[in-house]
Amino acid sequence: MTDLTQWLPRAVAAIERWQSEYGPFTTHPSLAVADDSLARAFDDLTARLRDNYPFFHPRYVGQMLKPPHPAAVLGYVTAMLVNPNNHALDGGPATAAMEKDVVARLAGMFGLPQHLGHLTSSGTIANLEALFVARESHPGKAVAYSADAHYTHARMCHVLGIDGVAIPTDAGGRMDLFALEQSLASGHIGTVVATLGTTGLGALDPLPEVVAMARAYGARVHVDAAYGGFFALIADDSPEGVASAPFAAVADADSIVIDPHKHGLQPYGCGAVLFADPSVGRFYVHDSPYTYFSSDELHLGEISLECSRAGAAAAALWLTLEVLPLTAEGLGAALRPGRHGALEWHRLLERSAALRPYQAPELDIVTYLPRRTSMTEVDALSASVFHAAGAGDPRTQVHVATYAVTAAQARARSLGLREDADATRILRSVVMKPESAADIPAIHARLELLASDA
Ligand SMILES: *Cc1c(COP(=O)(O)O)cnc(C)c1O
Repeated sequence: MTDLTQWLPRAVAAIERWQSEYGPFTTHPSLAVADDSLARAFDDLTARLRDNYPFFHPRYVGQMLKPPHPAAVLGYVTAMLVNPNNHALDGGPATAAMEKDVVARLAGMFGLPQHLGHLTSSGTIANLEALFVARESHPGKAVAYSADAHYTHARMCHVLGIDGVAIPTDAGGRMDLFALEQSLASGHIGTVVATLGTTGLGALDPLPEVVAMARAYGARVHVDAAYGGFFALIADDSPEGVASAPFAAVADADSIVIDPHKHGLQPYGCGAVLFADPSVGRFYVHDSPYTYFSSDELHLGEISLECSRAGAAAAALWLTLEVLPLTAEGLGAALRPGRHGALEWHRLLERSAALRPYQAPELDIVTYLPRRTSMTEVDALSASVFHAAGAGDPRTQVHVATYAVTAAQARARSLGLREDADATRILRSVVMKPESAADIPAIHARLELLASDA
C-alpha cells in the first residue's frame, strides 16, 4: 500500500522547492512556536483522536465512513501547503483547472453530453444548489422526493421556501411510481428528486420510469446520487455489479449530486453538483449573458453558492482519479468487493437461524434483524447485539449500525412481527471498504452468536 511516510516528505519538499524560487524571507516571530509546546499539544491531539471508531478496519461495517485513499491525502496535503481558494480563478489557477477536469470526468461517467458543475463542500450544499436551480427554473412549484430520501431535501426545501412533497416508498424502499403519478397529476410538482442509493437502505429509485413520468407532466428531474453515484462504474447487471437501468437514465436528468467524500475515496469536504443544461448558470449570476456559461472561461466562483472552497479538495480528487480512473477497472474495482460482500452476507442471512434479512441489498448496504416475533423483542436484541459486537477486545470488535423502521415499513416487507410498538431498531451495515468483503463470513458468524446467546 502507498506509504505516506515516504510520500508526505516529498510533498513538503516539492512545495518548498517552488517557494524557494521566490527568494528567502524570515517568518515573523509572532508565528514561532517552541517545538516542545507543539509536541505536548500534538501528543494531546493524537491521544484525543484515539476516541474514534476504527473506520479504517475491515470489521468496521457501520456507517458510511472510511479514511481517504493515500493518493487523496497526498494530493490534499500537497495543495494545502499552497492553500489555493477555488472561489476565483486567481485564487488558484492550477486547482481551478483540476476542478474543471474532475467535474468533466464525473459528467463523463454519467454520460452527460454537456454540463455545468463544480465541487462543493458536501452533498448537502450540492443538493441545496440543485434545489435552488429547481426553484428558479420552476418558480412556485413543489419538489417531490421519496419518503426515504435524505432528510436534507425536506430541510433545504424549507430553507428555500419551496413546498416539499414526500412520496411513499414501496416494499424495496424505492419511490412508489403510482403515488408519484398521483402527485404529478396535481400539476403542483416542478421537480422530482430521485435517489440512487438511499442513505438508509441503498435503494435505487426507478429512474427510467421517474424520468418518463416527470417529462410527461412537464417536471424536471434531479438525481441525488450522493451515496450511490460511483456505482455507475459497475452498473453492468453482472453478479458482482449493480442494476444498469437506473444509472443509464442519469444522462436524462437535469441535475445530479455525487459525493466524492463517500465512495470516491476523498476526505470530507468534497461533494459535487452537475447540471445538464449549462444555461442554468444564469440563475447564479444575473448580469452575465447566457453564452458566457457555455464558454471555456467559466469562472467557478460565479456558478457556486459557496464562496471560499478548498482548492486542495480538487487536487485530492484529481490525483486520486489519475491513479484510480473512473472506469470499471479503476475505481470500479474498489467498489465490486463491497457489493460482492453485501450479496454474500444477504445469502448468509437468508439461511441463518438467528438473523434474517430486512430486504435485499441493491448496492453495498445490508439490513438485517434478529429472528424474533415482536417489534419490541427485535428492538431490544438489535440494540444489545449492536453494543456487544462493538465492545471488548479491539481484535475481535465488529462495528455495525442500527436503523429505525416503522411498523408499516416492517409490514411492507412481510416480516410478520407482532406490532407491540410503533417502530423498532434493526441492524444495518455499509460494506464500503473492499477489505471488508473477505471478513463477511466471520462478521456474520460473530453477530449470529451474539444474537443467539442473548
Ligand atoms: C450523504 C447523503 C447526503 C448528504 O450529503 P453530505 O455530504 O453528508 O452533506 C444527501 N443525499 C444522500 C442520498 C446521501 O447519502
